[in-house]
Amino acid sequence: MINDGLDFEAGNLFIRSVGDRLSQTVRATDVVARLQGDQFAVLITDLDPAVVDVISRRLADELAAAVDVSDLSIARSVSIGVAHNSISNSNQELINHADAALHEAKARGKKRAVTFDATMRSKVLQRFEMELELRRALDNDEFVLHYQPEVDLETGEVVATEALVRWNHPERGLLSAGVFIETAEQSGLVVEIGDFVLAQAIEQISLWQHDHPDLEMWINISPAQLMSRDLVSQVGGLLNTHGVDAHRICLEVTEHSVLDDIEFTRGSLETLRNSGVKLALDDFGTGYSSMKQLKNLPITTLKIDMTFVAGLGISEYDSAIVDAAITLADAFGLKTVAEGIEKPEQIGELLRRGCHIGQGFYMARPAAPEEIEQLLHQPMSLHGIGASR
Ligand code: C2E
Ligand code: MG
Ligand code: MG
Repeated sequence: MINDGLDFEAGNLFIRSVGDRLSQTVRATDVVARLQGDQFAVLITDLDPAVVDVISRRLADELAAAVDVSDLSIARSVSIGVAHNSISNSNQELINHADAALHEAKARGKKRAVTFDATMRSKVLQRFEMELELRRALDNDEFVLHYQPEVDLETGEVVATEALVRWNHPERGLLSAGVFIETAEQSGLVVEIGDFVLAQAIEQISLWQHDHPDLEMWINISPAQLMSRDLVSQVGGLLNTHGVDAHRICLEVTEHSVLDDIEFTRGSLETLRNSGVKLALDDFGTGYSSMKQLKNLPITTLKIDMTFVAGLGISEYDSAIVDAAITLADAFGLKTVAEGIEKPEQIGELLRRGCHIGQGFYMARPAAPEEIEQLLHQPMSLHGIGASR
């Protein structure tokens, strides 16, 4: 990202500073090496297993400090995979184990240190197999889009649909995004999948807009797409081709994808927003945005994560979080949308709190476009529809 956002020289400076800082953090007798790209290895001999955590933390803290590169102060978080030679039969196996642990650390969220254990080996294999399959799926056009209505909780009108990618797997049937999107992200294939999603969703709204001129299309964007320089022109080109207005599109990004790399994402979000596209922060409440960051981001909408909606009126903590999100959104002039509405009581709870738009199985599950189209013609009756589902 530094290479793309600044230039290679800046990237090299940064890589060197990581190497220097790693070397300074361990003993002179330990080995520090750069494996590839942004991956480093530290080989520590005569290590007391009890101090692994201490060393990991020291390395992570050291690398988390910001360094100045080309007038920018850049701070990066690290993930750490730890492996012991006691359970590895060869040097290569030791490195493979550390790599598997690193993957696990990344999967559990950034800034973690995870030690290898045998269960990770099968996970690595599974991930590898799924990656191969995802590649094949792209070649065979096995991805399709389903759409889920975003409903005005007062009137029952469908104001938007969220495009959710599905994998029409030849043996396993239709798979939800939750099953494969993480592997797609880790392997980088999510960018190609995302190209399909953008093109398909924008074409779909162009077909619907004649009969439903106010309907919006909401599209999930992965961190890798946000980093690519052409997202703005890609979206612009598709809108042009299909004759769709930018304000009919809302791109959903997660707190993590935006905030982990705020130096790089802000620019892209700003250009997108300036082009008229709306921007939503997805799964709000599960990340760690600070109020200051929220204030400075050009977003238009907060999507309150379904875990808090599930606890509405049951858990005082969840209710308080929803209240806080709505208050914050109001103060910043943002809209709020509730995700994962499964019960009619939740609609009342949300309306009372000032959140007027929601999506969830109670109103409609994500479905193929033909099925969703039936729901666009008239407002939903929000009371008593649960019985038929
Ligand atoms: P998300 O964007 O927060 O999408 C909402 C997820 O919650 C969807 O799962 C949806 O099927 C599910 N959902 C909706 N209403 C309810 C409900 O009432 N109860 C419950 N339990 N679940 C509900 P899905 O389709 O498996 O997607 C999971 C995540 O994968 C999405 O979360 C999004 O982050 C990502 N994703 C989906 N499609 C795409 C895509 O085209 N591109 C990218 N980059 N990510 C996608
Ligand atoms: Mg979403
Ligand atoms: Mg969400």
